[in-house]
Amino acid sequence: MNTDEFRKNGYAFVDWVADYLEEIEKYPVKARVKPGDIKRQVPGSPPEKGESMEDIFRDFKEIILPGMTHWQHPGWFAYFPANNSPESILAELLTAGMGAQCMVWATSPAATELEEVVTGWLKQLLQLPENWVGVIQDTASTATLCALLTAREWVSDFGVNEKGMEGKFVIYVSQEAHSSAEKGGKIAGFGRENIRYIETDEKYAMKPEELERAIIEDEEKGLRPTAVVATLGSTSSGAFDPLDEVGRICKKHGVWFHVDAAYAGPAAMLEEKSHLFRGLENVDSFVFNPHKWLLTNFDCSVYYVKNPELLTRTMSIDPEYLKTAHDLEVKNFRDWGIPLGRRFRALKLWFVLRSYGVEGLRDFLREHIRLGEFFKNLVEEDPDFELMAPAELGLVCFRYNAGEIKGEDLDNFNRQLMEGINSRGEVFLTHTVLGEKFVLRMAIGQRTTREEHVRKAWKIIKEEAKNLKDK
Ligand SMILES: *Cc1c(COP(=O)(O)O)cnc(C)c1O
Repeated sequence: MNTDEFRKNGYAFVDWVADYLEEIEKYPVKARVKPGDIKRQVPGSPPEKGESMEDIFRDFKEIILPGMTHWQHPGWFAYFPANNSPESILAELLTAGMGAQCMVWATSPAATELEEVVTGWLKQLLQLPENWVGVIQDTASTATLCALLTAREWVSDFGVNEKGMEGKFVIYVSQEAHSSAEKGGKIAGFGRENIRYIETDEKYAMKPEELERAIIEDEEKGLRPTAVVATLGSTSSGAFDPLDEVGRICKKHGVWFHVDAAYAGPAAMLEEKSHLFRGLENVDSFVFNPHKWLLTNFDCSVYYVKNPELLTRTMSIDPEYLKTAHDLEVKNFRDWGIPLGRRFRALKLWFVLRSYGVEGLRDFLREHIRLGEFFKNLVEEDPDFELMAPAELGLVCFRYNAGEIKGEDLDNFNRQLMEGINSRGEVFLTHTVLGEKFVLRMAIGQRTTREEHVRKAWKIIKEEAKNLKDK
């Protein structure tokens, strides 16, 4: 493709993206395809001769688009949001255009330095402890794995990196922790048998006394308690583990304290939610995802550590071919995470933070929290429905329960209700299980979601419940 063709296609694609975002409600939120539907339409081998962009783009629209689930749809209430924004999309275009690989300072100084700047901005904005240092990772899963690896090296005096694991290290998460903690624990060599799932209270938050009991029990067995992963805003129900008490226990027992705030992190910039984040000063590492609820295209996860030296000692490698003249004066982020190669993710964050401004971001979050409150009230005021967990932010857990159906039948009813709701194509929500009960999750946080979409969702939920009851 020559430059003229690139320009022509580029303008057309920007138009297409603008139209897509503007008209997104005409698509069913969730893809309506069956397994294999897409593969069947694409040849099994690459073309021998190059094809025209016209043909490729046509196939994108005809084959690929119907197989996409539309995460930017205002009826998106599934999982958690993964916001983009026009600003972030444009920054991604520039990033792709430059195509830089930003593994060390010298391979693009601006990428490293801007990453230091935006992680510093976000630290101020979220009122995180001043002595923390941030780095951008691809995902929270990777950041949590980094935390577990650092914890492992920290407690073993950097011995596991040298000699391998001796199988006595234990990590602690709540029963409601995200699966990435377990996955990280397995990858980091702890072994699933050495992951303790601490019981939660009626709000689905970790019980600190159970945590301490488990730690002491392991110490008495001669095992080495290594790390606690606490969650702020759990995936199932948005629960907040008590940082104050967990932090105190970690300190007392010499255990690494990692906090996973993948979804809820941005709420730390709101004064009225700051109580949920109390106790961060005792935390060793912290992750949150601007790619979830902060308008920044996937992927972009910010990881903060109190002591970067422990992280870089865990991760650093020093082959001759990667040495540069400024290694002692600059940060080489290759040593701050798992992959060597790094995308320039700071640029889109910078675009978002600058164009929204602090006020714009706060307004954005507050509107979703208001809509969460609005939806929660609808649920609570309806005798046929019940709230299933505290709703601090935009995530509301609820289910149908008018009293006439019980036990497993009630779970089945709610499962069918969810399928009925989602089959309409106007909204998409997903489920979880809380206290062995099947629960619907209404996760409000899409950039374009307004009150009318929440009202519409509630109307659909009510209609589908009635249909199912009358069946
Ligand atoms: C979404 C989520 C994760 C996983 O995030 P990735 O960036 O996809 O790895 C981890 N923890 C919590 C609490 C989450 O909500």
